Amino acid sequence: MMTQEYQYKKREVTLDKDREFRLGEGRISGYSSLILGVLSLLAVLAYLFPSYLTTTELRQAYDAEQLQSLLKYGMYFSLFFGVLTFVLGKYRRMGAAGISLTLIAFALGGYSIPVQDVEPRALSLGVDWLILAFLGSAFVFMTLEKLMPKYKNQVILRKEWGLDLFYFCFNHLAISAILLYANYHVSHFEWALSPEFQNYIQSIPLLLQVVIIILCADFVLYWEHRFFHEVKAIWPIHAVHHSVETMDWLAGSRGHFLQVFSERAMVMIPLYLLGADKAALDIYVTFAALQAVLIHCNTKVKFGWLRYIFVTPQFHHWHHSSEKPAIDTNYSAHLVLFDWLFGTYHMPNDHWPADYGTTRKLPTSFIGQLFYPLTSHISDKKS
Ligand SMILES: [Zn+2]
Ligand SMILES: [Zn+2]
Repeated sequence: MMTQEYQYKKREVTLDKDREFRLGEGRISGYSSLILGVLSLLAVLAYLFPSYLTTTELRQAYDAEQLQSLLKYGMYFSLFFGVLTFVLGKYRRMGAAGISLTLIAFALGGYSIPVQDVEPRALSLGVDWLILAFLGSAFVFMTLEKLMPKYKNQVILRKEWGLDLFYFCFNHLAISAILLYANYHVSHFEWALSPEFQNYIQSIPLLLQVVIIILCADFVLYWEHRFFHEVKAIWPIHAVHHSVETMDWLAGSRGHFLQVFSERAMVMIPLYLLGADKAALDIYVTFAALQAVLIHCNTKVKFGWLRYIFVTPQFHHWHHSSEKPAIDTNYSAHLVLFDWLFGTYHMPNDHWPADYGTTRKLPTSFIGQLFYPLTSHISDKKS
């Protein structure tokens, strides 16, 4: 009834000219040079210290020697864009910083460092994961947001983009710690393993295995997510994810590490017990990773009839809305099924939210948000 009475409004986004990327000004070159410079230096360090700075699980999926040609292009483009800032006259400092970082990367061995055999370590920093995920996500999703934006006036450098980039880096660098914890967590479920059941799962067609994984994972993720919303004591942890007020490809990265760790650990349980083929798992992990970024994107793509099956940007944008009818709805991560079954589905036709965020404001710094689960209770007592 509430949804029928509620007056949906259109979201207003005004163009922030000071933060806009325009061709020919040097800002695009400056940022490109600096980002490529940072990534190049990080990549070179990862080639020099692979056991500390690369991810054991991910290394099996790529060819480190082939990626050196990507590094080569990254380094030369960083220099090219850096020089361009001097030609265009603005953002020279950024260009100079990009060039300097790339020159340091060259001095350390550049793209011709011999690829070494790596001793697997339980804990390392996922520098390789960070670089590849950043390049892939930035390219795919920023292109999508530019070609089919929901809010054309929304700029890439929107409010708090730096904070979300920091979360992106933090959560990617921590990948091996997350996996280590998730594996430790599932080891408590060894008693529930059944080789007969796993053999049966492996005997069914690959695509069906993927569907079963998605269903089981989403069931767990739905309830885990709903707990974070409905158990008052743990809501402040998840509120960090909801504190974003502008949705785009980077917005979904914002998440308290306790939430990230618990989410991965919980979803690992069905994956571990099902024991599906590695190929099915790989398809699921790729699908889940892409969908998680896509659903936060600033894109008007509605996916036609698929939106009645899969979680889409419109569906998850409603989850982030601070408007009354949308609060505590749309918990699913992959399929809309469980929200529909458990009565938390909210998709008011073609409406999109006018406002995003939490009803109670959170601190806007990483440290402030890190301690928010503690400080929010203190301020609760005060009030
Ligand atoms: Zn939520
Ligand atoms: Zn989200």
